[in-house]
Amino acid sequence: MNVLVVNAGSSSLKYQLFDTNTDAVLARGLCDRIGIEGSKIKHKQLVKGVERALETPMADHSVAMKLVVEMLTDTEVGCIASMDEIEAVGHRVVHGGSYFSKSILLNDDVLAKLELCRDFAPLHTPAAITGIKACLAIMPTKPQVLVFDTAFHQTMAPEAYMYALPYSYYEKYGIRRYGFHGSSHRYVSAEMAKLLGKPVEETKIVTCHIGNGSSISAVKGGKVVDTSMGFTPLAGVEMGTRCGDIDPAIVTYIMEKENLSAAEINSIMNKKSGFLGVTEFSSDSRDIEDALIAGPSDPNYERCKLANDILVYQIKKYIGSYAAAMNGLDAVVFTAGIGENSTILRELVCENMEFLGIELDRDVNAKTLRQSDNVRISTESSKTAVYVIPTNEELVIARDTAALAANN
Ligand code: AMP
Repeated sequence: MNVLVVNAGSSSLKYQLFDTNTDAVLARGLCDRIGIEGSKIKHKQLVKGVERALETPMADHSVAMKLVVEMLTDTEVGCIASMDEIEAVGHRVVHGGSYFSKSILLNDDVLAKLELCRDFAPLHTPAAITGIKACLAIMPTKPQVLVFDTAFHQTMAPEAYMYALPYSYYEKYGIRRYGFHGSSHRYVSAEMAKLLGKPVEETKIVTCHIGNGSSISAVKGGKVVDTSMGFTPLAGVEMGTRCGDIDPAIVTYIMEKENLSAAEINSIMNKKSGFLGVTEFSSDSRDIEDALIAGPSDPNYERCKLANDILVYQIKKYIGSYAAAMNGLDAVVFTAGIGENSTILRELVCENMEFLGIELDRDVNAKTLRQSDNVRISTESSKTAVYVIPTNEELVIARDTAALAANN
């Protein structure tokens, strides 16, 4: 089945056209600067390896969607003869609140519930709704499926998802842990479970999605028992520009000291903290690792080492606590930009973790950079398997969309 996967941001729209019979990506692209000056589309057709970039006005997401269809059906850079060959559309939605515990076919009731989730992710959900409406406008009869970043985490027990705040906030505002990157944790934990060669019900896996945004999950028997992100994607480990877990009293303390509004402190914690905040230099782990490799003579070395040490220490603590939560550990998976590429980070995280049965093969680890294969980076004798598994959130969306559309 030809499935178009759409990931709409506030001023962008990423897309991939899948043939779900073979899992092949036929084309992919990005519409950028939608609604602002300098809108452009970059499109790549992967069958023939041809591409096109075009700067053209895109007033809104509907115009962008029309352009996407034009590219997909173009005689030179397209891969389908007409829009009829798109059989279903799958949308990435960041926050489904407690309403959605799995992917779902769009209908009026679903759209109404999604509207209620706007407040949970004010930057993302309105954009996703705009993308959905743009697709509905030009493909009103095609099945549309919503795939939620939060859905895979809906299996958590109350003691894992509740905060010790007045209960009325949970009832009034839905304040609880939701967790994010669910499609990624789902994909890599399922791949890992297959590699363990035992029934999925018996598996205990910690998945470390470490990228610009990072989250760690404990997946027992194929179900999430805990995850590091919380009510929002600000919680958990240190990230590129996000602070991760901090003492909540720091927030009001700094607000008072610096005379900051709620919006200002929110922006500091989301956009000026993490690697960027600690190093006062860069949010990108490549820059941080370059400084680490250069050594103490590099002017940024001390702070980069500190920023990296914080992340490593936090990941170790999550792995340890999740092993406790699951009463055991079969495997640790590294994925996403940093998890797949950073040999340094993986080596430091796995150091001195023998008590958990983790024994890294340093040579294999050192050679493993982002690639399409799943690679075991623990030794043969390591009781706990450690793998690098490239994530594929779009494939999860395409597969769920095809399955739901087929039963439509
Ligand atoms: P993601 O959010 O999963 O796309 O990950 C993006 C992050 O991956 C970037 O911000 C980089 O910090 C990191 N990254 C990409 N390539 C490398 C690399 N070769 N070594 C270390 N980090 C990398």
